[in-house]
Amino acid sequence: MSITEAVPGPKTRIRNKLVPGTIEHARAIPYYRELWADRPGATAVGTVADLTALPVVGKYEPAGGMAVVGHPDRTPSVLMHSSGTTGHPFTRYRSAEEVQELSALLSSLNARARERMDEARPIVHLSTISKRHHGNSIGALAVERSVTLGLLSERDLVKALGLLRRPQLFPDLTDPLIQLSGTPDDLVVLAHAVQEAGLLDQLRPRTVTALADYLTDGHRDFLAACFPDARIVHRYSLSEVVGGATRCERCGLFHFDVHVVPQVLSLDGEQSLTSGVGRLVLTELFPFSQYQPFIRYDTGDLVEVFESPCEPGEVSVALVGRRAHIPLVEHAGRQVPVFRPIALRGALESLPELQRGPMHATIAPYDVLPGSAPRAKAEFHPATPGAPARLELTAVTAFAPHLFPRQAEELRARVREVVLGSSPELRELAAAGVCELDVRLTGDRRAADPFTVRGA
Ligand SMILES: [Zn+2]
Repeated sequence: MSITEAVPGPKTRIRNKLVPGTIEHARAIPYYRELWADRPGATAVGTVADLTALPVVGKYEPAGGMAVVGHPDRTPSVLMHSSGTTGHPFTRYRSAEEVQELSALLSSLNARARERMDEARPIVHLSTISKRHHGNSIGALAVERSVTLGLLSERDLVKALGLLRRPQLFPDLTDPLIQLSGTPDDLVVLAHAVQEAGLLDQLRPRTVTALADYLTDGHRDFLAACFPDARIVHRYSLSEVVGGATRCERCGLFHFDVHVVPQVLSLDGEQSLTSGVGRLVLTELFPFSQYQPFIRYDTGDLVEVFESPCEPGEVSVALVGRRAHIPLVEHAGRQVPVFRPIALRGALESLPELQRGPMHATIAPYDVLPGSAPRAKAEFHPATPGAPARLELTAVTAFAPHLFPRQAEELRARVREVVLGSSPELRELAAAGVCELDVRLTGDRRAADPFTVRGA
């Protein structure tokens, strides 16, 4: 039985109640009215499952895409902008009504979480990124106090450590509950600096939340070792979309927030998938998005969809990588991703002999201390009449390979093994002779930048 045929889970039942209002509200927007005009089934969308009758949209397409969406009866009050894959900035507006609705939802979720934890202490939220971003993604709007620890320069880090040296962050709070959030790289730099300064006992966060980029297992393990009392939370979110997903400690998959609808579509069409790799499409629900609601928005992320025992009847996913970074080949009658960038990065990180990028571009000693993504690149060469397709993986070693030829050869074999292990599709393509894997090691760090899996 597929997810859509199964009895909907509790989240889908709540979303089903919000879908009719979402569609009615969106019909007042000229863009959607015109886009949906000739779609059969578009007039009868009443549930999450019915959303499949509606076309998929992007930032700029079709016909201007989300960039031209604006509800005539709402006033934009908040402006956020991000740069898209194409590099031109994308403008995202929110109305006061939706900001208020979202804030109320997050407050009530926070209150319930606090009840479950049986925790009455006031919360102090420390973050390396601005409140607006995490306000959208993790609900920091509902905490009592927040402190932004910008980590742009060495002075910022010195200031952050200075704050932690104080006996109390706020004069009236003797024993607050500390939450810490930031990008994975910032969290790792901060944790390392706090550890080096002998201040780990001062900080002791209850939760450490990684957002805006992928938290690899290696980084997660480091944070868990620095903060043994903390729950390490890994969020999937996009700055332009209300709602995201949290990685589950039990099943390892991402489960989505109730106020956003996840759907996974086939790589070569708009067929809904209940298993396998596809495109992640998100729908924001009314009243949490009002001025510029995204309905069936293609996130640009590829995911593998599962039905997890944690959330029967719901879509749960493993992240595969950005569509723009993933070559596809035709194999056994379907489109197949040649490799999985996120799993590949994790696999390369498991090998300490591979060189890593510096932890931070501008803060000493992290500008030279390795610890960010491995320096590696994957280049795909399509099949030619005389040769099969080829994936060329270049990885920079942390030692001089010409001085240690035996170790270099051993490492090459291990890189090959972990790369194939990170992607079942590549393993199958290589075994079938459809795509060869060619691993190249070099000691020249100019050969490859740190391997990024998010961003554009
Ligand atoms: Zn789970």
